[in-house]
Amino acid sequence: MPCCARRPVSLRLALGACALVGAGSLAACGGDRAAQADPEPVPEVAPAAAPEPPPPPAVPQVRVLAIDTHADTTQRMLDEGADLSQRLPDGHLDLVRMREGELSGVFLSIWVDPRKYGGERAWRRTLALVGAVESLVREHPEQAALCTSGDEVRAAFESGKAAILMGVEGAHGLGTSDVREAIERARQLYRRGVRYMTITWSTDNDFGHSSTGRQPSQGLTDAGRELVAELNALGMIVDVSHVSDATFEDILRVTTRPVLASHSSCRDLAAHPRNVTDAMIRAIAANGGAVCVNFYAQFLDAAYRAGRRRVQRQYETEFSALAAEHTHHRPRGVAARALALQLDPALSYPTVDRLAEHLAHVVEVGGPGAACLGSDFDGVGELPTGLADVSDLPALRAALEARELPVSAIFGENVLRVLDAQHGPVVSAAPSPAPTPPHAP
Ligand SMILES: [Zn+2]
Repeated sequence: MPCCARRPVSLRLALGACALVGAGSLAACGGDRAAQADPEPVPEVAPAAAPEPPPPPAVPQVRVLAIDTHADTTQRMLDEGADLSQRLPDGHLDLVRMREGELSGVFLSIWVDPRKYGGERAWRRTLALVGAVESLVREHPEQAALCTSGDEVRAAFESGKAAILMGVEGAHGLGTSDVREAIERARQLYRRGVRYMTITWSTDNDFGHSSTGRQPSQGLTDAGRELVAELNALGMIVDVSHVSDATFEDILRVTTRPVLASHSSCRDLAAHPRNVTDAMIRAIAANGGAVCVNFYAQFLDAAYRAGRRRVQRQYETEFSALAAEHTHHRPRGVAARALALQLDPALSYPTVDRLAEHLAHVVEVGGPGAACLGSDFDGVGELPTGLADVSDLPALRAALEARELPVSAIFGENVLRVLDAQHGPVVSAAPSPAPTPPHAP
């Protein structure tokens, strides 16, 4: 229970920071309360009035194992030489800010840009990204540990080290259309520690079709079906983020292990093909999997996205100048958000509570075992207000606690269950999800 949990809501809000402190919060909570106390001097003779009831005992904040299933920080390590053991001056995530935000572990994404790398170059890039993650844990064993199972993540948590996991985003990173070779490469990646693979990124590939590709009505290819079977056999999680609805249905039909949507928000709350429908959430829950909600502002709030696009169209020259100034998508996104708000101060920006609303929706539709966190840190430029980077994660915890949602399940336990279930009993293929009714305006 958090240190502020027994106080009235108004007081909890007034002492907002109290809910955000970590281990040792007993003193911090007492300090907050003392700061609020009326410094009236004590009279020499106490009045005969009834004594004030003693304040409820402060309860220290319980450490919660927290896992984020998708961060794109890996590219920074490889391309910029970013040392995650130090506080980085920008971006969303490093080991220092993970400790501040009490994030216990993170899946670092192995993502290859198919617009830049194809064939063998894509495969070499994949291996280089894996190598960058391996270097991080090899060079900083006192701060981080490479983890491949729930037990290893829990051991890292107990020893105070960041649990570092890996997931490949898009089977195009295998760098081959030959399914035999792709399977052999997937095995290599498994041996190196990779524990999930998203079938597609934003574009179609040889294994499946993407929600934002050219043929979103198409599903898994034959090669994709073989790849899913191999991932199941290996014990590598099949990640259904980014895939088309048809690919999703095909995967759910053939997978024998629980799947993960590593970074997908809710389509019922924000209409976007990248988000999952309620039918998908139910299918994933029935399969024993989980939906890790993406923090990207434009996936959280369709009205904001529409407003933001309107401003961009209206001030095309300004945004083009900004794009020319920032070639990398992350700083460009941060600058674009600032420019949009400057040009249209009325633009209603989603807050951290909107993110909590998406998580609450997953729980409502799929149950408490279905929700988890998939930030997309360093892959997106626009995060909700109140969550500038990973160090602000306690604000999300507070928002979930205010909604009385199961924090430890959402923050970490659900993901560890899916990870360990890859070597557990097989699950029967889920029925196809029922069509979702049209989204209300
Ligand atoms: Zn992605």
